[in-house]
Amino acid sequence: MKIHEYQGKEILRKYGVTVPRGIPCLSVDEAVSAAQTLGGPVWVVKAQIHAGGRGKGGGVKVAKSMDEVRQYASNILGMQLITHQTSPAGQKVRRLLIEEGADIKKELYVSMVTDRVSQRVVLMASSEGGMDIEEVAASHPEKIHKIAIDPATGLKDSEADEIAAKIGVPPASIAQARTLLQGLYKAYWETDASLAEINPLILTGDGKVIALDAKFNFDSNALFRHPEIVAYRDLDEEDPAEIEASKHDLAYISLDGNIGCLVNGAGLAMATMDTIKLFDGEPANFLDVGGGATAEKVTEAFKIMLQHPGLKAILVNIFGGIMRCDVIAEGVITASRAVKLSVPLVVRMKGTNEDLGKQMLADSGLPIISADTMEEAAKKVVAAANG
Ligand code: ADP
Ligand code: MG
Repeated sequence: MKIHEYQGKEILRKYGVTVPRGIPCLSVDEAVSAAQTLGGPVWVVKAQIHAGGRGKGGGVKVAKSMDEVRQYASNILGMQLITHQTSPAGQKVRRLLIEEGADIKKELYVSMVTDRVSQRVVLMASSEGGMDIEEVAASHPEKIHKIAIDPATGLKDSEADEIAAKIGVPPASIAQARTLLQGLYKAYWETDASLAEINPLILTGDGKVIALDAKFNFDSNALFRHPEIVAYRDLDEEDPAEIEASKHDLAYISLDGNIGCLVNGAGLAMATMDTIKLFDGEPANFLDVGGGATAEKVTEAFKIMLQHPGLKAILVNIFGGIMRCDVIAEGVITASRAVKLSVPLVVRMKGTNEDLGKQMLADSGLPIISADTMEEAAKKVVAAANG
């Protein structure tokens, strides 16, 4: 689960991390009065969407007067903000964060992620903040420093100090950086985050260390123990089809292509999407009905997929293990009738009661295209999608 920058900063503040003073707003008038409340000569008007790269996309503006605050707030609120992390259509801006302007001397980068190889939380840091870290990783990998943190000790003083020095924090500011890094680690650990990124972390003209941006992702499987994080959920930022799917306990991710994939199991979903792409098709989604796919669940899955703009064909690729192929066939037939399926449907089933399932599909009288192998299924669905 993702949250907004202003919410991430609320969490950081609780853990003793210094962040600029700021006020979230929903309207231009609120933005102006927020700037008045904050006072000072410079304010930053920041779009709040669940994606980074807002600065480059025109969603972060520095204002030097109340008129400019008003101007930028009205430009940004309601805009479709397109960044490298949004869909090509962009994300509508519904909220702003009005923040005091910081005196930036140097922009640095720090983040925490869970590293599956070392099975530890890894602190990553770089002197090259403010820009895409992927770019730094590609062009200057030596400028990214990492420490795998021992869960028994947490981030040690010596580790924090060492990494702060490596990214160019001057000696007089090392103690502040240590407090910040240890606070970030504690915030990450205690909220079951899967990513906590501060880009940029800044050094100010007077030697302060401040988190100027805050990005958090949380492990959805741990949300049951964090009602305070769940309260941060903003459904406006989520894909409506994905919200609908989560209500029916379906794992669904919208993609940009035109072939709907209904599959049981995440591994098979990946393999199915790969095979479609191998034959020059583009998946419209990733939909995993899981182990207990009832007719009702398959029907819901079809309904959700059919809402996808530009959907041209559907591929059902099921492995019948505990899940029997005849049950899937029944689900597919019921669902096709219930939603009056209007796009070509290719079905491939393997495993328990395969022959019975295939017979049921053949007898249904529905225009279902059946396939035996992954290759045949992918080729047939790509051909169907291309009309
Ligand atoms: P994003 O990563 O989505 O582009 P950031 O919050 O990192 O958004 O802001 C982009 C840039 O805007 C920062 O790198 C920084 O240079 C500037 N900026 C952001 N907040 C402030 C602030 N409070 N004061 C001064 N400059 C800021
Ligand atoms: Mg940033």
